[in-house]
Amino acid sequence: MKPEQVAYEIKQNDKVGRYVVAAKELEAGEEFLVDTAAVIGPKHHTPPVCLGCLSLTSGDTLCERCGWPVCGPSCADLPAHKEAECAVFAAANVKFSSSVEDPTADCPQYECITPLRLLLTIGSKIWNDKIEKMECHSKERKGGVDWNADQINIVNFLRGPCKLADRFSEEQIHQVCGILAVNTFEACSRVSGGNPVRALYPQFALLSHNCVPNTAHSIGADYKVRVRTTVPVKKGDELFITYTHTLQPTYARRQHLKLSKYFDCECARCADPEELGSNLSTIKCPKCEWGWVRAEKPLDDASDYKCHKCEYKMSNADTMKVMGVIQREIEALDPADLEVREQLIKKYHAFLHPKHAHLTALKHSLCQLYGRVAEYTFEEMPDLLMERKIELCKHMLQIADIVQPGYSRLRGMILYELHAPLIMLARSLYQQDVLTGFALLTRMQEAERVLAEAVHILSFEDPDSMEGQLAAQARFSLEQLQQTIIMLPQQIDIMDGEQHIGG
Ligand SMILES: [Zn+2]
Ligand SMILES: [Zn+2]
Ligand SMILES: [Zn+2]
Ligand SMILES: [Zn+2]
Repeated sequence: MKPEQVAYEIKQNDKVGRYVVAAKELEAGEEFLVDTAAVIGPKHHTPPVCLGCLSLTSGDTLCERCGWPVCGPSCADLPAHKEAECAVFAAANVKFSSSVEDPTADCPQYECITPLRLLLTIGSKIWNDKIEKMECHSKERKGGVDWNADQINIVNFLRGPCKLADRFSEEQIHQVCGILAVNTFEACSRVSGGNPVRALYPQFALLSHNCVPNTAHSIGADYKVRVRTTVPVKKGDELFITYTHTLQPTYARRQHLKLSKYFDCECARCADPEELGSNLSTIKCPKCEWGWVRAEKPLDDASDYKCHKCEYKMSNADTMKVMGVIQREIEALDPADLEVREQLIKKYHAFLHPKHAHLTALKHSLCQLYGRVAEYTFEEMPDLLMERKIELCKHMLQIADIVQPGYSRLRGMILYELHAPLIMLARSLYQQDVLTGFALLTRMQEAERVLAEAVHILSFEDPDSMEGQLAAQARFSLEQLQQTIIMLPQQIDIMDGEQHIGG
């Protein structure tokens, strides 16, 4: 029996519809679901891409049959294109019209491609068994901005110029647009030259959202998605993914979910003003000492904010205005500017909780910048900055333990960042005689444990992905570190001896 047949079970209730639970006890890191995409196509908003392999294209080479961009004849003949929109466009004589001014700009003509690919599966076994039942939130979408844009760029285009009015009703096309909007995942693959595409996974899409997921997934070059647990999951417990960014504060996550997935998240983290202790939405009280200002009713989008110690209150509008100003200030930063980030952290510490999402975003960037940017390479960094990098990594690990617990990608990446400054600092302190040989060995062993866990977590990723490549690099570093540790007792003896003689 295949593992996915016994590892999870699909349940149903009136509140959330279908959802997935563990059918047996699952260990942390256990793969429980592998799913194949029912449809793969260009993202909703995309510049022109090859309709065969979905790589970015200048739009100069066109398919000989339909006149839409491809890399060449072999891409034109891929079934994903040839057996889908190619025949429709050729029959209706609908040509691609490039915007000559800017080939990198989003091309509205492409919005119909993935919906058309899905429409063409209507009546097939996979449509009847799985896709037709998928959530499309037509009621919530109807009349909204997305709906109206879909009406013009997709419904009218397919039923008009593409001559499909007899095959697909307006309702059917909107249903398909809704299914794609609610359920697709973005996938990057070497097949598409790293260009992100959208893929629809009928089984994987059944997992509900939670702002504290207990699973992680990776999508390979074959576009298969592999889903695994990040923490131990008991038999009967629900399995969750996240459709949003776990490092964002509650109001931002809930707004993103509402706009993109059409539902109000009421998970335990959203319902808790302290966000389960992560305090990603907590503001410092300007009126009293050590008072924290948080949403009074976090599940009400219009909630006011109130200090937990004094009676100080901030209106929702005022709070959102301040948050917006900070958000824009952070978004405008040069991605490599380390010093400005440190200055902003000092500035915002005066009125945000040290773990607030905005401070955490800055600290997360700094974790990756120290050791990598000009004037702050590991060779140039003094001990004080090694300590700073360690402190920033430990901050991120504390947050990860709450919002992406267990073997999450976030934890894997941060542990990888942490191992190098641990080693560098230990070596430097030993050379300055601050550490004994034994203390050096202990610290190197701590770095080894950190790196070994990073390797373990990152090894779950697809080898072709950025994280997968990092896993290979981490594995190499771990072998080197282990060699160093084996040799260390001998070297310490010699060095200690020399120091004795010299002193
Ligand atoms: Zn191609
Ligand atoms: Zn074609
Ligand atoms: Zn939530
Ligand atoms: Zn107060």
